[in-house]
Amino acid sequence: MRHLVLHPSAVLRRRADPVDTIDDGIVSLVEEMFQILEAEQGLGLAAPQVGASKRLFVTDGDEEHGGGKRVFINPKFILIDGLLEASEEGCLSLPNIRGSVRRQPHVIVEALDIDGKSFTLEGSALMARCWQHEMDHLDGVLIIDRMSVIDRIVNRKRLRAMESAGERD
Ligand SMILES: [Zn+2]
Repeated sequence: MRHLVLHPSAVLRRRADPVDTIDDGIVSLVEEMFQILEAEQGLGLAAPQVGASKRLFVTDGDEEHGGGKRVFINPKFILIDGLLEASEEGCLSLPNIRGSVRRQPHVIVEALDIDGKSFTLEGSALMARCWQHEMDHLDGVLIIDRMSVIDRIVNRKRLRAMESAGERD
């Protein structure tokens, strides 16, 4: 059984590999990711967060803005639009760390579903933010890289504690 991977694990900093074939391994990875996402009551979870360096993420929640229980395999943005908006974000891999991140409010994503079928989906508000957050994970980017300088200072002690605990593992 896979488990949630926390900062400063190296897998969170790697650029994830594309999914070549949606085989049984990918299907069970996705099932386990949904279980973890549900247990953690999160909105989205990317494969590197459970130790799998694969380009896929899952979401659960906010049906209204393009959300819902969905899987995005080899996702890419075909549109990112609108003026940058700042909003507070957290991350399951960075417990107790929150900070303001600026993102664009409107995106269209193209991805494969679990059957290998291509789809495009429009997201706004919370889901547009969620998808950009999850896509960052696939490129090894975390919210601590994107948050304001002030938020970085606010979180500095917690972050250092997490990083030295990680080094002991
Ligand atoms: Zn995250």
